[in-house]
Amino acid sequence: MLRTNTCGELRIEHVNTTVTLCGWVQRIKDLGGLTFIDLRDRYGITQLKLNIESDTALNQTVKGLAREFVLKVTGTVIERESKNKNNPTGEIEINVRNIEILNASITPPFTIEDETDGGDELRMKYRYLDLRRNNVRKNLELRHRMALETRNYLDKQKFIEVETPVLIKSTPEGARDFVVPSRMNKNQFYALPQSPQTFKQLLMVSGFDRYYQIVKCFRDEDLRADRQPEFTQIDCEMSFVDQEDILQTFEGLTRHLFKVVKGIDIATIERMTYADAMKFYGNDKPDTRFDMKLIELNEIVKGKTFKVFDEAQVVLAICAKGAAEYTRKQLDELTEWVKRPQLGATGLVYARHNADGVIKSSVDKFYNEEELKKWSEACRSQPGDLILVLAGAEEKTRKAAGELRLEMGNRLGLRDKNKFSALWVIDFPLLEWNEGDPNLPASLAGRWHAKHHPFTSPKPEDMDLLNTNPGAVRANAYDIVINGVEVGGGSIRIHNKNLQAKMFEVLGFSKEEAQKQFGFLMNAFEFGAPPHGGIAFGFDRLCSLFGGAESIRDFIAFPKNNSGRDVMIDSPAEISDEQLKELFIKTYN
Ligand code: ASP
Repeated sequence: MLRTNTCGELRIEHVNTTVTLCGWVQRIKDLGGLTFIDLRDRYGITQLKLNIESDTALNQTVKGLAREFVLKVTGTVIERESKNKNNPTGEIEINVRNIEILNASITPPFTIEDETDGGDELRMKYRYLDLRRNNVRKNLELRHRMALETRNYLDKQKFIEVETPVLIKSTPEGARDFVVPSRMNKNQFYALPQSPQTFKQLLMVSGFDRYYQIVKCFRDEDLRADRQPEFTQIDCEMSFVDQEDILQTFEGLTRHLFKVVKGIDIATIERMTYADAMKFYGNDKPDTRFDMKLIELNEIVKGKTFKVFDEAQVVLAICAKGAAEYTRKQLDELTEWVKRPQLGATGLVYARHNADGVIKSSVDKFYNEEELKKWSEACRSQPGDLILVLAGAEEKTRKAAGELRLEMGNRLGLRDKNKFSALWVIDFPLLEWNEGDPNLPASLAGRWHAKHHPFTSPKPEDMDLLNTNPGAVRANAYDIVINGVEVGGGSIRIHNKNLQAKMFEVLGFSKEEAQKQFGFLMNAFEFGAPPHGGIAFGFDRLCSLFGGAESIRDFIAFPKNNSGRDVMIDSPAEISDEQLKELFIKTYN
């Protein structure tokens, strides 16, 4: 090793030892005869003291230094005169005898500090410099720890990690495939896995029994802050289990990670049906850190000559605790907020339950005190609370009310990122009608689409509905939701060839298409496929949640930007005509 110690480990008990450190120049303080340098590596910062007055060679070298030079220094550990309590090495410094420049650095495009002056794009372009910053590095250290502890837990539970191929053929998970042309097979393409779904099921047929893999997956879909075209899953599958076994096993994993990585004992993970999640929270991934459920007021408010409510399919209220003091301006602003096209509400009705007990609404013309008391009873409002009401078409209004609930949760400080509330959402519908999902090819519009994926098993008791009312069939499918973020999902699978064929039929595949695309799986089911099921966790998301961040980007070493570009290596990029020709590809303008 070039060094005897790291820049993070020397303490007062090391005084008088001779050490050699290597690292990057964080800061240079020139005090005339004395120069101080903060030397940084992955482990911390150590102060160097250079007495340049008495040493001309040293003087010469120090004069040529600048930020981010790489140094190797040798000297003696001494006690500092003015100690820095904020730095673990702050009680000592190195009295440097010898300094060697291992490499120079040009001026970095942004400061390598916790609070940097670099904007997003610039930091992405020079990601290797961004990764020198404490906070970004800490995120990757957290990620490493999460992966390690995942492996520890699953290994103890007898799971084995098996690698599955990356050049495969389409595994539908509700997105478009990334494809790779094959030079050796003219006009043929591999697809990159949207997940290792079919392979892990085949491993169950092979008898592996408990599989996992921390694995890259690829989905070509429109990007958002929490989406990346390539991302990582903790992908798992088990044989001879029912849904309950899977929920228990992965509640165990979640509990283990919270305990060892964050030192938190989380509460038992509650379960909620998909139907209840939609009814009470307006979405399938409720943030259960706070209550504020959606309350249906139809019965109470209809028939009082207020047209908006009378004509609405549904009238939904939320009770925002302690928000009665909201000013007119705040309420107007909230009204504008719900009217944004993303939510599309036509307006917002409110009722203040004032501190003196009197309830005043924005529709007092139609509802007297007596009537408003009924609102209050239904919403269980207390003096000081604010009731907010949306009305309109069922689906849209529930969704909007759910969003409003989250927004009020934010505004009232109920979504503390250091508080964790996990939930299983169960009994998802098997199918969903695809009106024209922008993430899917247009050819799939106007068909039933698998809500989870086509390998998910219907609930046995709903099986008959497959022919009569497919939309009502529930699946043995579940999601794990933490703080309103879907961190994982899975299902019990179909393991019977005929049922799988039936499923493809319902999804609008012809027999030939189904056989061509998934014949390998259905054939495998004929060779003694065990009952099986599994789950996959979005690993990047899980890490960002543990790290208290919104975006997954900072937990990925080399992420892509919002247009799916890696701006550091400048990819995707054009390829040469020669390559195109070899691949039998024509380009289009
Ligand atoms: N393959 C599924 C997904 O990527 C997870 C699973 O069903 O195990 O969402």
